[in-house]
Amino acid sequence: MFAAFKDIWGNQALLAGLGKAVETGKLAHAYLIMGAEGTQKETLAHAIASAILCDAPTATGGACGHCSSCGFLRGGGHPDCHAIYPDGQSLKIEQIRALRDEASLHSFMSEKRVFLIFQAEALTDQAANGFLKLLEEPPAGTHFILSTGQAARLQPTILSRCQILKIDRLGIAELGAALHAAFPDLQPEEAAEIARRSQGLPERARQAAAPEALARRQSDLALRERIMHGDLTDLFRLAEEMEKNKDEVERLLINLSDWFGTDLGLGQADSSFSAGRIRAIAPLLEEIALSRQLIKNVNARLVLDVLFIEILRFRGVLQGGRASS
Ligand SMILES: [Zn+2]
Repeated sequence: MFAAFKDIWGNQALLAGLGKAVETGKLAHAYLIMGAEGTQKETLAHAIASAILCDAPTATGGACGHCSSCGFLRGGGHPDCHAIYPDGQSLKIEQIRALRDEASLHSFMSEKRVFLIFQAEALTDQAANGFLKLLEEPPAGTHFILSTGQAARLQPTILSRCQILKIDRLGIAELGAALHAAFPDLQPEEAAEIARRSQGLPERARQAAAPEALARRQSDLALRERIMHGDLTDLFRLAEEMEKNKDEVERLLINLSDWFGTDLGLGQADSSFSAGRIRAIAPLLEEIALSRQLIKNVNARLVLDVLFIEILRFRGVLQGGRASS
C-alpha cells in the first residue's frame, strides 16, 4: 500500500523527525510504531515503507508518489515490500521463517527491502525469538517496521533494538480542523462534533465522516429531536412506524442509552454534576436495557410504547431539570 507523510494527521514533530531521516538518508533499519487503536499506526508504517522504497523521497512528503516504486505500492504490490498480520490470534514462527527466507533473497527493484509486522504484540515467544535473530543480523538493505497497540506485551530485547515512534491521538480542535480539510463538505461545527465523539482518533473520525455514516447520523439526530420533543401521540406513532423493523428498534435502544447515558452524564466536565445526573437517570437507563431484552420476545411496539411513556416522565431530567413523578 502507498502512503505519504501528509496522510498522517497531526503528529508534526514525529513527521519532522522522519522527514529529517529521509533527507539525510538515515532511516533506521527497525522502527516500532506505538499508538492506540485508531491512531493511524498502519498508515504511518506504510508511509515509512513508501519513503524507504521511493526513488525520490522528500523531507516533507516522504514518498514522491510518481516513481515506479511508488507506482507498484499504489498498485497494491511492491516486490520488495512484505507485510504480515497475525494468523488467527498470533504471529507464528512459520510466518517469521517465511519472512526470513524472503529476506535472504536478493531484492528485486532496488537495494532495499521492507518488512511490515502489524500487531507485533501477537508474536508468540518462539516467533519473537526467531525475529530477534533477524533483527540482530539484518541482511543488508533490510528494514523492519513493526506496529503495536500494546508495547508492554513485546519482548524488551525487541523494543531495545527498534527505534520507537509514538503516534498520538489529536487534540479535538486539531482533529476537527483536519477533518474539515479532508471533508470540505462538512460544516465546521459538524467536524468539531465528530472530532469530539471520536476522542481525537483520526481513523474513527474518518469513518464517522464518511457520507454513509454521516447520513445515518443525521437521521439519528432527527430521531433524537423527535424523542426529546414529540408529544405522546407522536411517540406512539413513532413506535408504530418502527415496530416492523426489529434491527432499527435495537439500534434505537442502543442509541438511547448513548444519548441519555454517555452524552448527558459522562460527557459532562463537572463530575459532581454528572454523578447526580447519572443517579437521576439510572432508572431510565435500566428501563432501556430491559427493553433490549424484552424486544427479543415481546411485541416491539408495546415495548416502545411503555419506554416512550417513561422517557416523557424523565424529560425534565434529560433536559437539565428534575424527573416528574
Ligand atoms: Zn516515489
